[in-house]
Amino acid sequence: MRDGYDLIVVGAGPAGSIAAKTAAEHDLDVLLMEKRAEIGDPVRCAEGVGKEGVKQFIKPDKRWIAADVKGARIYSPSGIKIEMSEIAKVGYVLERKMFDRELAKQAAKVGAEVMVKTRAIGLIKENGFVRGVKAEHLGDSFAMRADIVIGADGIESKVGRWAGINTTLRLKDIETCAQFLMTDVDIDPDYCEFYIGNQLAPGGYAWIFPKGKKEANVGVGILGSRAEMHPIEYLKRFVERRYPDGQIIEMIMGGVPVGIPTKTTTNGLMLVGDAARMADPLTGGGIVHAMKSGEIAGEVAAKAIKSGDASVERLAEYERRWRSTIGATLQKSYKAKERLLKLSDAEWDSLASSLRGINFEEMTAFGLLKEMIMRNPKLLWDLRCLL
Ligand SMILES: Cc1cc2nc3c(=O)[nH]c(=O)nc-3n(C[C@H](O)[C@H](O)[C@H](O)COP(=O)(O)OP(=O)(O)OC[C@H]3O[C@@H](n4cnc5c(N)ncnc54)[C@H](O)[C@@H]3O)c2cc1C
Repeated sequence: MRDGYDLIVVGAGPAGSIAAKTAAEHDLDVLLMEKRAEIGDPVRCAEGVGKEGVKQFIKPDKRWIAADVKGARIYSPSGIKIEMSEIAKVGYVLERKMFDRELAKQAAKVGAEVMVKTRAIGLIKENGFVRGVKAEHLGDSFAMRADIVIGADGIESKVGRWAGINTTLRLKDIETCAQFLMTDVDIDPDYCEFYIGNQLAPGGYAWIFPKGKKEANVGVGILGSRAEMHPIEYLKRFVERRYPDGQIIEMIMGGVPVGIPTKTTTNGLMLVGDAARMADPLTGGGIVHAMKSGEIAGEVAAKAIKSGDASVERLAEYERRWRSTIGATLQKSYKAKERLLKLSDAEWDSLASSLRGINFEEMTAFGLLKEMIMRNPKLLWDLRCLL
């Protein structure tokens, strides 16, 4: 094992692997460390992703695509259906065990060193700068120096806190989720389904994402500040009604950050993906933002190291670039989330009725939102600035 690298990336999720790959492509010496024995496993994700978003980073490959979906159906509390479909774009349901592994392989292919079963346990800090990572590998502790560290350690991130960045999430900015991978269920393999309702999933939604003909990710996300019971109880209630005879072959629990990141850099360190709290506040989708932030951080790390300056002022380029891209979407989504949280079930039903028979211009959450605002200007007056 070496005693130093240009860059250490902590966490081999989508954010970390893209950061490591990008930096290695720019000729940095990179170490990508992952605490799990197997990258991508266990999966803590419903695995839905927009095609256009993912294609910016990796060529589609059947090995990590569980379903190529043609549209989405959204159900209001009383069951009014909104259908959105489009042939070309829409999205995939991923096989993240394969997807995450493939991203890490691509980082390795361009020269990043990957270490699994290696858990970061602290940071080396000198003169106000982060200078490396303290870690454990198979019972041994070691310290590894680096000019820059990228924290890509997901929702449970400790790297930011160790570096002195406050990444605490308020209850109103965290979606707590439970999900079953179910088999022997009657699903439409071409459509993702979303269910809204203040009783069903307060402050969130329930989902059914197909993974083949008879298999699906079935889950619920509940806003921390709205939860009256554990998300698993909401999920059991949903599944008992929807799939009383389905079989559960995997169960996961996890959180999604649905706020706005505050600070993401300090001397010698950048935070990316969920560690930086970059999931979309409206949909909870975080994969594409994780990859995008990883790419920007990898590029900025390369420039900073080549210029011999890893100060927070130099790394401000990262902060500026993600704020003008990902940040702009996060702001809009947060505003929409805050407004939609105030809707009663009756108001949701009325919004759904107003959308009957529409051809959506844009097959996205914002496309749907735009139509809702245009058709219900009084009810959604506060959101007219999003048009
Ligand atoms: C139930 C659920 C459903 C979701 N559904 C979707 C969806 O359908 N679509 C979507 O886009 N997003 C979804 N998300 C969000 C999405 O999973 C995340 O936004 C995305 O995985 C973030 O990527 P990341 O690389 O930042 O973090 P992660 O994918 O969480 O990766 C972080 C990595 O860091 C590792 N790590 C952590 N601590 C350490 C340490 N100390 N040392 C070394 N390694 C460490 C972890 O093991 C992990 O591999 C969902 C989340 C949940 C919980």
